[in-house]
Amino acid sequence: MTDCIFCKIVQGDIPCNKVYEDEHVLAFHDIDPKADTHLLVIPKQHIVNLMSVKGDQWDTVSKLLKTVNSIAQQEKLEGYRLITNNGEQGGQEVFHMHWHILAGTKLPGF
Ligand code: AMP
Ligand code: ZN
Repeated sequence: MTDCIFCKIVQGDIPCNKVYEDEHVLAFHDIDPKADTHLLVIPKQHIVNLMSVKGDQWDTVSKLLKTVNSIAQQEKLEGYRLITNNGEQGGQEVFHMHWHILAGTKLPGF
């Protein structure tokens, strides 16, 4: 996807503050953190959002979710909130699937 900001980060055309990378997954600090720790975990493959996932893409989602726990351990998080916004009505602004890891001081309940 030529116009996708997260694809550009995957390709190294836009810099990021990387915390983890493997063959399928990249994780980096959110540029506008909403908590003490605010990381984004994305598939390297361009997938629009969880709502759009089909077929083999579920394998990528599964790998990504396993990686979330490894990243939490690596970053020594004692707990975290995991959010993925889906579509405009779900508050999604970047249309390349990403999972927000939020942690730090006690997060508000909802
Ligand atoms: P969402 O509203 O779920 O689509 O979240 C998009 C997130 O991407 C927001 O929290 C932004 O702060 C974050 N973001 C946008 N551009 C960048 C970037 N270049 N590097 C890191 N995070 C970004
Ligand atoms: Zn993309």
